[in-house]
Amino acid sequence: MPELPEVEHVKRGIVPHVIGQRIIDVTFSNKVIEGKATGKETIIKGISLEAFKMNTIGYTIEDVTRRSKYLLYKLKNENHERTLIAHLGMAGGFFVASKIEDIVIANYRKHWHVVFHLNNGLKLIYSDIRRFGEIRNVAMLTDYPSINEIAPEPFSDEAEAHYLSQFAHKKYQKMPIKQMILEHRVIAGCGNIYACEALFDAKINPHTPANALTVVQRQAVFRSVVKVLDMGIQSGGTSISDYVHADGQRGTMQNNLKVYKQKTCSSCGSAITTAMIGGRNTHYCEHCQH
Ligand SMILES: [Zn+2]
Repeated sequence: MPELPEVEHVKRGIVPHVIGQRIIDVTFSNKVIEGKATGKETIIKGISLEAFKMNTIGYTIEDVTRRSKYLLYKLKNENHERTLIAHLGMAGGFFVASKIEDIVIANYRKHWHVVFHLNNGLKLIYSDIRRFGEIRNVAMLTDYPSINEIAPEPFSDEAEAHYLSQFAHKKYQKMPIKQMILEHRVIAGCGNIYACEALFDAKINPHTPANALTVVQRQAVFRSVVKVLDMGIQSGGTSISDYVHADGQRGTMQNNLKVYKQKTCSSCGSAITTAMIGGRNTHYCEHCQH
């Protein structure tokens, strides 16, 4: 599943090819068309396919930014501004290519769902093997409230203070710290892999109730989250499961993983424990994490 570092990498891969380009046409796959017809809202959410086209074609891509695990495309024409809000779901990805056949990975070549035809002759292609991804087209970001409830970006100055303030909420006090840091209202974009890795880095047992942590431990957890997310971005993300980047390259973060889906602890040699916490598989070292 693409997490924050993977989404950041997708963004960096497509930005050089799409900024300043006008979208001259949009094509949907049969699955998207059928999904809309049967009320399933496959990938294109909250807007008819006709209205999506009308609010996309003729617009120029002014900017592409990342907010948590969302990609935001700022579109502009002479009179209007729109924003495409994209979430890659479980296995989605954006690719830039001259034609769909040029996508290197067969599964992404086969499972394309939305094609934005650009005036530089390139295509911005959204592919999604499992179709859990979403693309919305809104006039204003406030039209999609889920975005506004997300915590500040983890690399921003206000993120740590925001995170520390969340420990005062009753609903988090007895919650295992692992589950709490997966909440996007607490920390933006810390998915399962990075939550496991951060708690190993901070030497904190993932079962520990949030209110049992000292302030110093709480800070250590946050700083470890930032550290592993940054490491993830530097190494191009993980390519566990079927996830790859816009350029078809695989990230190397999986080589840096200490506990996630590992057998033995690289630090002490103990067997890695797997437990279910808040419905998510959690991997940790009982010896190193207290
Ligand atoms: Zn260990």
